[in-house]
Amino acid sequence: MLTITPSQESTTLASFAPPRATIHRSPFVFVGERLWLDFVNCEHGPRRFDALRDFETMVLWLESAAVLDGERAAGIRRRAQQQPAGAAAALVDARRIRGALRLLAERGPGSERMRTEGLAEINRVLGRSAGTRRVELRGDGSFIRTFVPVGDAFAGLVIPIVESAADALILGELSRVRRCADGRCHRVFFDNTRNGRRRWCDMATCGNRAKAARHREKLRTH
Ligand SMILES: [Zn+2]
Repeated sequence: MLTITPSQESTTLASFAPPRATIHRSPFVFVGERLWLDFVNCEHGPRRFDALRDFETMVLWLESAAVLDGERAAGIRRRAQQQPAGAAAALVDARRIRGALRLLAERGPGSERMRTEGLAEINRVLGRSAGTRRVELRGDGSFIRTFVPVGDAFAGLVIPIVESAADALILGELSRVRRCADGRCHRVFFDNTRNGRRRWCDMATCGNRAKAARHREKLRTH
């Protein structure tokens, strides 16, 4: 049994805290327009960074996605140090859920079987739901729905993500979920454009690459 005295705990936590510059140059992208799609995309961050590389990067991602505020994230980190096996199991579980949600995003729109399987996975996670929901006012005046887990804190971490996927089914959004038109890109997104013709995960990267390629093609043919 690992015991942590307050002084040890604060040094360990300090070493966990990333330098400000790291947070600023975030290894995460949020281009999916929906939490569950951003979670699917967290496997392919800038420079192939996988947010589920380890438990700490997962907590960082949840913080960046505003699923956890700083205080709760600190609590989860403390708990992960006290219960490393529980944290490891939560990481494995999160990867499994991400895989299921990717199938739902990529193949759900065209396949009823995939939608049914995605639904089973969503209900598997929602079935463990033990916590309270709150709506909180953020510093910038906007509102956010939060989930405050009770009992097993690790099991509740993914609930808001899975609820976001459940919302997509309920609201009929699945038909507007697309994969980036760049074949090398694995990102998915919710197309909320009026004409439903969004093609790229991100204009700054994939969209620009396609534009540059079209430009080069034009130069060659003229
Ligand atoms: Zn892309």
